[in-house]
Amino acid sequence: MRFPVKRFFSYYKPYLKIFLTILACAFVVSSVTLVFPLLVRYITKDVLVGDLSRALSDVYWIGGLMLVLVVIQNVGNYIVDYKGHEIGARMESDLRSELFDHIQKLPFSFYDKNKTGQLMSRITNDLLLLSELYHHGPEDYVKYLVRFIGAFVILFFINAPLTIIAFCFLPILGVFSLYFNKIENRALRKIKERIGDVNAQVEDSLSGIRVVKSFANEHVEVEKFNRENDRFLDSRRKFYKIEATFYNGIQTIIQLITITVIIFGSASIVNKTLDLADLITFLLYINFMIEPIQKLTHMSTQFQEGITGFQRFMEIMNMKPAIESNPNAVTLQKVHGEIEFNQVSFRYDDHLDNVLKHLSIQIQPGEYVALVGPSGAGKTTLCSLIPRFYDVTDGDVLLDGINVRDMDLMSLRKSIGIVQQDVFLFTGTVMENIRYGNPAASEEEIIAAAKHANAHDFIMNLPQGYYSEIGQRGVKLSGGQKQRLSIARVFLKNPPVLILDEATSALDNESESVVKQSLESLARGRTTIVIAHRLSTIRNAERIIVLTEDGVVEQGTHDSLLARSGPYARLYSKQFEIQV
Ligand code: ADP
Ligand code: MG
Repeated sequence: MRFPVKRFFSYYKPYLKIFLTILACAFVVSSVTLVFPLLVRYITKDVLVGDLSRALSDVYWIGGLMLVLVVIQNVGNYIVDYKGHEIGARMESDLRSELFDHIQKLPFSFYDKNKTGQLMSRITNDLLLLSELYHHGPEDYVKYLVRFIGAFVILFFINAPLTIIAFCFLPILGVFSLYFNKIENRALRKIKERIGDVNAQVEDSLSGIRVVKSFANEHVEVEKFNRENDRFLDSRRKFYKIEATFYNGIQTIIQLITITVIIFGSASIVNKTLDLADLITFLLYINFMIEPIQKLTHMSTQFQEGITGFQRFMEIMNMKPAIESNPNAVTLQKVHGEIEFNQVSFRYDDHLDNVLKHLSIQIQPGEYVALVGPSGAGKTTLCSLIPRFYDVTDGDVLLDGINVRDMDLMSLRKSIGIVQQDVFLFTGTVMENIRYGNPAASEEEIIAAAKHANAHDFIMNLPQGYYSEIGQRGVKLSGGQKQRLSIARVFLKNPPVLILDEATSALDNESESVVKQSLESLARGRTTIVIAHRLSTIRNAERIIVLTEDGVVEQGTHDSLLARSGPYARLYSKQFEIQV
């Protein structure tokens, strides 16, 4: 991918004024720091020589000037440090919202391919590195270039030969820092990977603790853990070795430079080509030349990491929300709930085989249809085509005679309610979770929905009723209770089309019967497709459609299908055996 330069810089736009102010401050601060050694030189060379009677007033004057410079320097630095970091964080936050917004719009196929954990690290870590680059990059370049060039020019004017001798060491310092920066970063990355492995191992062992104990395999887990722990330790030892070599190597080079300057400088004093004041000035400026070299090499890795972070950001931003409303989309005022699959074929993105092949099904408004068939036949897939979680590979899906592709996506999805086997409740109160079905609903409406879903009574028995927190730290709800909350949510949404995908499969017999009642009352007056493997749930369906790998192989009422002794009858008898 070519680096999208324009896009990268566009994020500066809202902060251009403050950003330029920061750069100006960085410039002023660096220039001011360059003045100090010059003032020292002035004192030692021009003030404290000859007749000292007037020296004191000059020293006071210079002291005053130094104070002023210190104030300028630190106020400037304050602005650079505070505002610089702030705009870095702001830009990062802009990118993060943009990324999150975009990810929300991406199709299901994207989530099929990307793990939640990896996405989280993209949203957090990748962008963290970017914020450093965004502000430190330009700021540090200004700061250190000014210092480096300034120091070089000043020293050159004081004594060219000595400057060139000192300067000769800098490439060595540069190459050394560059090399060690690289291997130090590699070692750091390794540490991060290893700590990740340790965490993964802990999580795996602890979440499977029941299995561990039932097999009495604690020692196996301890061994696995120790292996990861040792690898982690190993990576840290390597890192510290590199770090110590790096740091002390740099110190050695710096000391070599200092010694060289002292020896050559002293020799020049003996030869009368340099005076003591100039030598002191030299020693004061040496650091101005060394520090930028160190910083700039460090920045090269920061730069790389930031750029990589931005590229990973753009990788996701360049993915298209494949499923979008088309510009001429129709918004249906009232959906009756007639559904038609017309010669529908469907294949998952990276799969070779079609899951659904030339499938045609018609469902009347208000009809109660059951979809049965072996697991993996494509029942869930078929239903996910109606709200366009995926788009058909071939053929058409119609709602009230209109192709779902031509409907406004929001209004399409608002007209379909789904109850699944896995219930997802958000962190928050019972009230908030039900309200998710219709954010505009009043409390009365929410309570009415809960009553319809047979959930009101158990909610009232929770410690804080409708205001009890569920989710991570809240009350523990049984599977059946969670399912009834999810049904209340759909009651509140009040969609004309309903999909019940194995909604009672995970429940025990007792909760199943309560949930079944709620579902039956939810289905009243809506077009309903129910997928269930318990045939008790589907016996009453107006029509049963049997879907296998070969497509729709049979349809009819329970009795008529049993009478045919076909696939449905076989499915039914098989389950009957299991239940006995
Ligand atoms: P059913 O609901 O009838 O059990 P599904 O519709 O879940 O069947 O699955 C039909 C086929 O599609 C299966 O072979 C399954 O492995 C595959 N499949 C289901 N979901 C995905 C997905 N998100 N990505 C790729 N393949 C999938
Ligand atoms: Mg399924």
